[in-house]
Amino acid sequence: MKSIAVLTSGGDAPGMNTAIRAVVRSGFHYGFEVYGVYNGFKGLVNDEIKKLTREHVSRIINRGGTILGSARFPEFIEEKYQLKAVKNLTKRNIHGLVIIGGDGSFRGALALHNHGIKCIGLPGTIDNDIPGTDYTIGFFTALNTAVESIDKLRDTSFSHQRCSVVEVMGRHCGDLALYAGISVGSEFIITPETGYDREKTLAAVQSSYQRNKRHAVVVVTEKMLDVHVLAKDIEQHTGYETRATVLGHVQRGGTPSAFDRVMATEMAEFAVELLSRDVGGKIMCLSGLDVIDRDIETALKMKKTVSKKRYGLLGKLVT
Ligand code: ATP
Repeated sequence: MKSIAVLTSGGDAPGMNTAIRAVVRSGFHYGFEVYGVYNGFKGLVNDEIKKLTREHVSRIINRGGTILGSARFPEFIEEKYQLKAVKNLTKRNIHGLVIIGGDGSFRGALALHNHGIKCIGLPGTIDNDIPGTDYTIGFFTALNTAVESIDKLRDTSFSHQRCSVVEVMGRHCGDLALYAGISVGSEFIITPETGYDREKTLAAVQSSYQRNKRHAVVVVTEKMLDVHVLAKDIEQHTGYETRATVLGHVQRGGTPSAFDRVMATEMAEFAVELLSRDVGGKIMCLSGLDVIDRDIETALKMKKTVSKKRYGLLGKLVT
């Protein structure tokens, strides 16, 4: 019997467990033995590999995080570690590997693929920053968490007539801020795609104050600026008492949304089906309503598309 394995790598995201469960169950369906690699590429090199049973993946469909653990292991760029990983897999007759992670993890997948292991990547990150797929596993769950938190902040902002400046995750991608901003009806968003324009930001918040709005919300992608400094600036120039909140890692946890569970399950099943046909070197992508496969190399070269129409929504709704 041929064997396959599954690992999670990079930042964890809700829905990774759902995907692991689906890899194991589909693996059994296609007649594979399925192994779990613990702690990402680091565990792969250190031989932290165990056979998984149905019991290992029972009652995890709704659990956040990843039961396999994740790790950053920059050394995996070096061929000697990649060869060690290949050795650890092949001695167990593992010919296929499902890697759930971000674009960094896909570069690791490509390296292993070039050494003869059939690899399939599943996009798992809350940042939605992977080109080639409309959405990533975990994005909508993190978005729901951000929206729920901002709604709560707005309740208290309203009571005190305050402005809330909220930092969300996303790294180089503004999708979390954009979608959260639309969902909560924010005054303004600041993302890598919009850049930071101080005058426009202050003008948008001030216009809300002048219309006697009791609350205002500005959503900012992490690393764009210091939200505490921005809050002070807004307070000094708009009339609103202003507070800054950094949502932080709370956005990474929690029960995966139904959307993330369905997408994770569909992508995982497709990945295993490809491996059953001895196909590797692909990543699973959501394109419209369909899960499709793309060559890893092609996907890594693609540029993330930004919806100008969606960015335009906020400006039209504020005034
Ligand atoms: P996230 O978007 O959540 O940060 P990611 O997969 O992009 O996820 P990275 O830290 O960039 O996170 O990559 C995860 C791991 O993938 C790295 O720690 C490393 O082990 C491996 N990796 C990254 N880039 C390469 C590369 N060029 N070659 C081989 N392995 C790589």
